[in-house]
Amino acid sequence: RPRPLVAGNWKMNGLMRSSAKVLGEVHAGYTPGLRARVDLVVCPPATLVSAFAHMSVGTRVGIGGQDCHAKESGAFTGDVSAEMLADAGAAYVLVGHSERRQYHKEKDADVCAKAVAAHRAGLTAIVCVGETREEREAGKTLAVVRKQLRGSIPVDSNSHNLVVAYEPVWAIGTGLTPTAADVAEVHAAIREELKRLVGKADHAKVRILYGGSVKPSNAAELMAVENVNGALVGGASLVAADFLAIAGAY
Ligand code: 13P
Repeated sequence: RPRPLVAGNWKMNGLMRSSAKVLGEVHAGYTPGLRARVDLVVCPPATLVSAFAHMSVGTRVGIGGQDCHAKESGAFTGDVSAEMLADAGAAYVLVGHSERRQYHKEKDADVCAKAVAAHRAGLTAIVCVGETREEREAGKTLAVVRKQLRGSIPVDSNSHNLVVAYEPVWAIGTGLTPTAADVAEVHAAIREELKRLVGKADHAKVRILYGGSVKPSNAAELMAVENVNGALVGGASLVAADFLAIAGAY
């Protein structure tokens, strides 16, 4: 079994003073016992990546960006490259989050280019996939997720530079979650797809995270599902005690 990874996606939340306190609480709660069982990653807004990376030196809490541009540098006002995130001390970057796909019209090819950029910069890409409510109701979940994976995962991916996050769009920020059986079905399909995309030697070690309304109260049930190798946590990751309780489900 791959070593579990619990990542917090802070989205567009966090100012320096209050956030440094939360990060400090995460550091304090990441005890040797927890460290032995699970990897922790915090993905703050871009403005906090550098400070958080500095504060996290020696704590084994990894820092990640929430998005990156596909190019290394250039005339792309407002964008941040994977190299810049790495330079700021990040080791991870989310790519293809449903909010990027929805609000910034990112397609699988864009997501793939960003994951390629992440690898070029030495970052681990956390590639996000997931179906909408309409797609689930139409019975298209597995087809949608497989197509997203095929389009979004670069050919040079391996268990060190790739993490997959399954986040059903309808479960994000809604308090709704799929049943354990539904999660098991999608994660099994993702694992099968990884066999083709990542290769036989390494596919079993790629972490597949579940995300969407993960809370301390449902973490144990979700994390016990076969092929669920961790969580991508939104709202609950803004509260250190909740984030740590979710990680403690392992
Ligand atoms: P919530 O945990 O707030 O539902 O968000 C999930 C998510 O989008 C994490 O990337």
